[in-house]
Amino acid sequence: MEIRKQFPILDTQVYGKPLVYFDNAATTQKPQQVIDALTGYYTSLNSNIHRGAHYLAAQATEEYEQTRIRVQQFINARHRHEIVFTRGTTESINLVAATFGQRFLHEGDEVIVSGMEHHSNIVPWQLACERAGARLRVIPFSDEGVLDIESYKGLFNEHTRIVAVNHVSNTLGTINPVEELTSIAHQHNVPILIDGAQSISHIKVDVQKIGCDFYCFSGHKMYAPMGVGVMYGREELLNELPPYQGGGEMIKDVTFEKTTYNELPFKFEAGTPSVGDVLGLKSAIDFMEEIGVENIHAIESELTEYAFAKMQAIEGIRFFGTAPNKTSVISFLIGEAHPYDVGTLLDKLGIAVRTGHHCTQPIMDRYGIPGTVRASFACYNTKEEVDIFIAALNRIAPMLM
Ligand code: PLP
Repeated sequence: MEIRKQFPILDTQVYGKPLVYFDNAATTQKPQQVIDALTGYYTSLNSNIHRGAHYLAAQATEEYEQTRIRVQQFINARHRHEIVFTRGTTESINLVAATFGQRFLHEGDEVIVSGMEHHSNIVPWQLACERAGARLRVIPFSDEGVLDIESYKGLFNEHTRIVAVNHVSNTLGTINPVEELTSIAHQHNVPILIDGAQSISHIKVDVQKIGCDFYCFSGHKMYAPMGVGVMYGREELLNELPPYQGGGEMIKDVTFEKTTYNELPFKFEAGTPSVGDVLGLKSAIDFMEEIGVENIHAIESELTEYAFAKMQAIEGIRFFGTAPNKTSVISFLIGEAHPYDVGTLLDKLGIAVRTGHHCTQPIMDRYGIPGTVRASFACYNTKEEVDIFIAALNRIAPMLM
């Protein structure tokens, strides 16, 4: 399969120049088959699921539930009812933090997060802690962007209730040792949530092998439409959690006196879900598996090494996140230039990168910087695009020094 040809948007010109899209950690572009799945749904299948007695409703329900099985296989979950559809990683983490917090967090309890979390894996826990009178404990990381495992071990005590860490940092690109982190948490009988927003499109994820209790990710970062995400949870724990939102399919019986709740996974899927987007997610998984997740990783690693080697020759460049085990994210600054200025100049040359704190302000505080420029690659990017990017940086750098 010629990967790049599957993405119509990559033919776009910006300011008369071919688009070089290096903002893949923010969202990936969508292949034609995902776009077709979405339009196909609205062209010939649109109807509300689960409740209808008619043909279209039955077909849409079937496709929706088939996607659940597809996701279950994709991440190797034990049961299909351990897969809950949400709007994205943020909603998935909020769901766990709110319900776990309600059920298990009490005054004086502690939640462990890492210093390299996205705000989406900090703020929901802060909210839960505030409600319960609990507090956050933070795993530090080295200058290279590697978590300090000894400090992590030292954070556990009788008040620790849950750990929440990312699989891959969206700013540093570090691939965290999630199996080890999980095993340490479990030695203390503490469950662990993994934020998989930045890993799911780059690394083969096997939730049983990792052993984690929750794994959350977004469709739009893995070639699927915006508006769909996944919360995987181990059955035993999901059964212990109260519902998150009320209404729609999450009930068994409702009276004004008392409501009983539906079984998993419907207990956590209140209201009409984003059915078309869920079907798009199935198509995105097909796309990724046609190439092979390992092959995607190999393509991206080669590009990252190629870019990194060339970028090192640029005078005044500073990198943030140089861990040995990384995905295709390169965060950098040129001299003392503000990241936004670098991003704006690159944009005028047709190159899309991200600038700012990337929703990880604590990382910026750790390094004492306002933000970084972040280039992030996907499997459709090419060495020719990297060459354009390097030439642009070489042109821009002297202007900013
Ligand atoms: N966690 C990480 C590591 C991320 O990179 C992101 C998005 O950039 C999120 C969580 C939030 O994802 P979403 O905005 O799709 O909910």
